[in-house]
Amino acid sequence: METLQEVKTRVYKFGNKTADGNSTMKNLLGGKGANLAEMGLIGIPVPPGFTITTEVCTEYNKFGQDAVVKMITREVEDAIENIENIMGSKFGDKEDPLLVSVRSGARVSMPGMMDTVLNLGLNDEVVVGLAEKSGNERFAWDSYRRFIQMYGDVVLGMKPESKEDIDPFEEIMEALKHKRNIELDTDFTVQDLKDLCYDFKDAVKKRTGHDFPTNPWDQLWGAVVAVFNSWNGDRAVYYRNMNGYPSEWGTAVNVQAMVYGNMGDNSGTGVCFTRDAGTGENLFNGEYLINAQGEDVVAGTRTPQQITKIGSLRWAELAKVEEAERAELYPSLEELMPEIYNELNEYQQKLELHYKDMQDMEFTMQDGKLWILQTRNGKRTGAAMVKIAMDSLKEGLITEEQAILQIEPNKLDELLHPVFDPKALKSANVIAQGLPASPGAATGQIVFFADEADKFKKSILVRIETSPEDLEGMNIATGILTARGGMTSHAAVVARGMGKCCVSGAGALKINYKNRTLIVDGHEYHEGDWISLNGSTGNIIEGKVATIEPELSGEFAEIMELSDKFATMKVRTNADSPKDAKVAVKFGAQGIGLTRTEHMFFEVDRIKAMREMILSDTVKGRKEALDQLLPMQREDFEGIFEAMAGLPVTVRLLDPPLHEFVPHALAQQKELAEEMHISLEAVKNKIAELEEFNPMLGHRGCRLGITYPEITEMQARAIIEAALNLKERGIEAKPEIMIPLIGTIAEFENQEAVIRATANKVFEERNDTIEYLVGTMIEIPRAALTADLIAKKAEFFSFGTNDLTQMAFGYSRDDAGKFLPIYIEHGILKVDPFEVLDQEGVGQLVKMGTEKGRSTKPNLKVGICGEHGGEPSSVEFCFNTGMNYVSCSPYRVPIARIASAQAAIKKQA
Ligand code: ADP
Ligand code: MG
Ligand code: MG
Repeated sequence: METLQEVKTRVYKFGNKTADGNSTMKNLLGGKGANLAEMGLIGIPVPPGFTITTEVCTEYNKFGQDAVVKMITREVEDAIENIENIMGSKFGDKEDPLLVSVRSGARVSMPGMMDTVLNLGLNDEVVVGLAEKSGNERFAWDSYRRFIQMYGDVVLGMKPESKEDIDPFEEIMEALKHKRNIELDTDFTVQDLKDLCYDFKDAVKKRTGHDFPTNPWDQLWGAVVAVFNSWNGDRAVYYRNMNGYPSEWGTAVNVQAMVYGNMGDNSGTGVCFTRDAGTGENLFNGEYLINAQGEDVVAGTRTPQQITKIGSLRWAELAKVEEAERAELYPSLEELMPEIYNELNEYQQKLELHYKDMQDMEFTMQDGKLWILQTRNGKRTGAAMVKIAMDSLKEGLITEEQAILQIEPNKLDELLHPVFDPKALKSANVIAQGLPASPGAATGQIVFFADEADKFKKSILVRIETSPEDLEGMNIATGILTARGGMTSHAAVVARGMGKCCVSGAGALKINYKNRTLIVDGHEYHEGDWISLNGSTGNIIEGKVATIEPELSGEFAEIMELSDKFATMKVRTNADSPKDAKVAVKFGAQGIGLTRTEHMFFEVDRIKAMREMILSDTVKGRKEALDQLLPMQREDFEGIFEAMAGLPVTVRLLDPPLHEFVPHALAQQKELAEEMHISLEAVKNKIAELEEFNPMLGHRGCRLGITYPEITEMQARAIIEAALNLKERGIEAKPEIMIPLIGTIAEFENQEAVIRATANKVFEERNDTIEYLVGTMIEIPRAALTADLIAKKAEFFSFGTNDLTQMAFGYSRDDAGKFLPIYIEHGILKVDPFEVLDQEGVGQLVKMGTEKGRSTKPNLKVGICGEHGGEPSSVEFCFNTGMNYVSCSPYRVPIARIASAQAAIKKQA
């Protein structure tokens, strides 16, 4: 049996300009712990503390609480003593108490996903000591009520489970505010705070049946265990799944001496960014609150103030606050506490220079002294990501390679979504103004609850403020609108991370959850009403606003161009129409890797001819129908070849089972019978004949062309004639004819012969020739296994990894929806293999197929045309396999281009 390993460091200390760890140890110490250590090392003031490693979390999940607590007790006691020595106070002491925070911290930042407990170590006696020592009774009791509330919520399970439940602590506070006729937490008197503490503890007793723990060590272990447990909490699990992070990672636990932002008017807390996380602009920015602690700024209950004066002026303009009022009530930190501001400014510069990336920092001022509590590479929108990378390169902060590696390929997707049409915006009815929290254009129907975000196809989640519980709904919603909260509020930060359009802090909105109404300026909006959000300006617009396609321009174009300098593997596109092909070329496609000819047959006028072809019993009948299809198909190819002028175009011959084309509704069957002058009976019989038990393994792919060679003939003729027609017009076409679903070399030879004979015939007729290739899809495992034989004839390979995955796993793509989600939930599969190429299994077939193919034909052109061709980790795999190109849908071309460049850069390193 596996047991706990004795000799190993499980607790890493930091503080007083020394640290056991550093920023390279994120996997072990979590991002927060590793960066706290690093900041200590480079001379940034962080309160001393220690980190319990992520490995302990994993051990906790395996061996349970008792074994793990026993194992780390001595190390933790030691580390607490270390903090006590540095701070000169004592944990649990009644005269000079040390309080700590207990913070989670996974290896990647999961904002708001895990729970933090502040002011731990307080009880009825310690609070009195704290009041005396600080000479600030209000502060001591405010800390205590915060502690009971947080500990109650996080550790003792007091948090409401559903939206109908109310947080008992909030309820008590609201009742008291009402009774005292006050609005803000800061208006509570000392006696109010004392009353709250007692009422809170009563509420705990009533709900849990136990007294609130008074022993600081019990409190500490309770909190540590709660952080471990939060790793498997709903929110964390959802966030992990959304981002594909494995559950084995675990979270670290950071225990750190408290510094107090709630000590009065010379104290406060805030959040700042070294650059604008929404737009990428190189402008230090952030928000703070005086006499506040922890999440107060993020929670959005008080209006946060801007850190810089520029920011403050911009905010006032958007919030329509007069200058006199701004300067008096909402001054920037720069104006209010210039010395602290200068120090903070110095640290933000130092940290960005040190980490070479935009930083998102937390700070607290305790009685005029500044402490930094966290730094991390800030979450940002796709647009900001691109701008920051290019700006940092131009500023000389990073190299070209680093700039490219800083791009998260999938996030480019945000830049490829439609944007509001500037013309439509001119006549838009702007009903209110909020803060431009996360750029983008969103139009949708109003919903007021996160768990109802799926009520409409496109919904705008309208909330007074959001909380981590709303994460799932925020992800589903098209846009997010809040009445409260600033640029660093939960809604804003999470939305930027998701690249979702968000307008926050629109104070003019009156939201009533109970009636499900939104009132603006006397006008009432209801659930289901359409509104639009402009995340770049903060405008809230009534109704729908027209959108236009995005452009590849500015920094986006620059970074794409830069990527071409490094990318050796090309990126083609999957396109079935001239329109798709044009879009793809605009995004930098270097050819077409897959044109699915069957898509051309689904259009109304064509499907009839197609059906006649399928239903006819004779070669003659089929040929007649195919003769009708030929000019249409030829025209399509001309359009595509023209759009791709001079670039290679891979055309796949007819692939799907024929029954996909026949009508299944009676009315259509009748119509068809009339048109073909045959009986309805005959039509029905023929359709029944086409039915298969396993269509995906049935009469499809090259099997069609082999049984009905006239189909292949028609298609080959259409391709070659189209290319010749273009040649006449002086446009170069480079067709690559691809035979689908080959399993044996003989199948290939059969179809190749038909294609070449047809081509030669056309050349003769036209007395002209063009160059073309004949190759095949590798999508049946047998083809990969015998790729050396197939490559003797085939002039190129294209891995059809959709079918290859289907056949290698034996999962029907069309039925996998029934069990794949459960497989992923149980960890039987880590990801959906139809989205992310299974490198371990299917990848072996790809590798073997490529190697075997090139063993007979060293220069064999190899590509991939499955969905995986636009998925970054799969693109990297394709590069490492030595492919010449990947092919993906037009909108994923930029993503694949960056992924290709990154793969090349990583290999060089
Ligand atoms: P998250 O991961 O959700 O950001 P954190 O652990 O960073 O959670 O903490 C939540 C809040 O509490 C932050 O605002 C942080 O700055 C504050 N905080 C954490 N530890 C301390 C401390 N030792 N002293 C003062 N504030 C703290
Ligand atoms: Mg938190
Ligand atoms: Mg934090």
